[in-house]
Amino acid sequence: MSGGAEKQRSRGAEEMEGELAGVPTQEEIGRHPLDDLLRTERLPHIWCPGCGLGTVLSCFTSALMRSGLDLDKVAIVSGIGCSGRAAGYLRLDGFHTTHGRAIPFATGLKLANRDLKVVVFSGDGDLIAIGGNHFIHAARRNMDLTVICVNNFNYGMTGGQVAPTTPTGGRTSTSPRGNLEHPFNIPNLAAAAGATYIARWTALHARRLEKSIHKALLKPGFSVVEVISPCPTLYGRFNRAKYGPDMMEYYHQKAVVRRDVQPWEVDIDLAGEIICGEFVDVERPTFQDRLQEVFGELRPSDDLALLHRPPVELESHGEVDSVQAELPAIAREAPGRLESLPHEAKLRTRIAGRERIGPVEVLLCGFGGQGVILSGKITGLGVALYDEREVTLTQSYGPESRGGAASAALIISDRPVLYPHVTHPSVMVALSQEAYTTYHGQLVEGGMLLIDADLVEPDPVAGQQVIPVPATRIADQELKRRIVANIVMLGALTALAGVISEEAMRKAILDSVPKGTEELNMKAFHKGYEYARGLLGEQAG
Ligand code: SF4
Repeated sequence: MSGGAEKQRSRGAEEMEGELAGVPTQEEIGRHPLDDLLRTERLPHIWCPGCGLGTVLSCFTSALMRSGLDLDKVAIVSGIGCSGRAAGYLRLDGFHTTHGRAIPFATGLKLANRDLKVVVFSGDGDLIAIGGNHFIHAARRNMDLTVICVNNFNYGMTGGQVAPTTPTGGRTSTSPRGNLEHPFNIPNLAAAAGATYIARWTALHARRLEKSIHKALLKPGFSVVEVISPCPTLYGRFNRAKYGPDMMEYYHQKAVVRRDVQPWEVDIDLAGEIICGEFVDVERPTFQDRLQEVFGELRPSDDLALLHRPPVELESHGEVDSVQAELPAIAREAPGRLESLPHEAKLRTRIAGRERIGPVEVLLCGFGGQGVILSGKITGLGVALYDEREVTLTQSYGPESRGGAASAALIISDRPVLYPHVTHPSVMVALSQEAYTTYHGQLVEGGMLLIDADLVEPDPVAGQQVIPVPATRIADQELKRRIVANIVMLGALTALAGVISEEAMRKAILDSVPKGTEELNMKAFHKGYEYARGLLGEQAG
């Protein structure tokens, strides 16, 4: 909250406190039936006297109690702003997230555990301004979320600035002569994007609001309840309604409940009515219904994985296994076996499997068109889904895409990776001279550098072990498809670097390559894998 807003808030609080003298204290009143749902140790709350947020929270808690939902399976997510405090005041699993990101966070929760009822409780600034894009896309895909959008017509917490919901002509700290812009009509926005239940009430309509929230909580799909709520401290003060009751009086005069009205007819303007009611109540398959339809019965945690994983079964490619034993002919011309692998890499080779792996930075680079970006995605996919490790992936490619520089950088670990930027890779793959020249200086001492034997001429650097792999030649000569050189290199990477298991890489390749090319790509993988194992003297004769 800005200093100005804080001063105004405390001035408002002092004035109201004077008027509240004689009102019984909490101790005098005793416990409230809804206290069990509140983190009473956090009270008193920070909301100003006369703010509508308390009413909305009260309606929400009542609706939740009536809903019969298992409270252990309810999660509440809020973003930034005065409304965002709600998540912290409720004795539920709650997440107070970054500005505008409540909906994506809630989406992740729901995808990770579809048994949860996920509620987003946030303000108009958070949900419709900075988070506006998330709002429409979650509605479009019909994510099973209940969104309670508290619309107080301004950015309350930060000093009462104009918002995309401020009515035309509404005065705020940044529109002292009245807002010049047309505000969002939230029900219409939600309806156009595909929400299945949409209602609007003011904080005056406590009973109807509670009923609507109750309905929204039990409705599958993306449900939105907009609550027009007083912000007397800021919006009200700028608009001649500096106390909560002034704003309630305004709602009393302006609000009308309409049935059979269309969402596009419920714009809010200062002079006109505030049309309230239920505007949309339709059935549509949720995003997770669609997932289930396509992929069959799911366990809760399957949903996330399926977003990235086409239903390819390794076993369905019967011939693939037969290529495993094939040693690339080119291996016989290899310039000799590796005397040793760098210490770190050897260690990782030994520990690949279920033992812990620390953060390992891996950089794949080459030019656009060599499949560098795809290689990074495949490796990341395999590590995350099949080795079940943490991994981040960042990519970079020039505007020219084909022919320009391209890189994919991964950090692989058994612990959460907090920052995805790769600065000191200990494993690097360079598929072009330019990429080698650009990046090889970043490789840590003792690091492993795989280069395409025919495309990169390395400068020997002390402390780096450079391992040439004729990936392009193997792809050209043995598979007649140069395009799979990157997969040959992934085979070598898998065999030598110890950052991903063979099975995980095989499955990730099958998940990622175009239909009909699985066998070719599996052959390419095993050519590279066996070539590298030959260098280690593990299989080549
Ligand atoms: Fe105060 Fe307005 Fe924030 Fe409510 S929305 S807590 S009245 S600044």
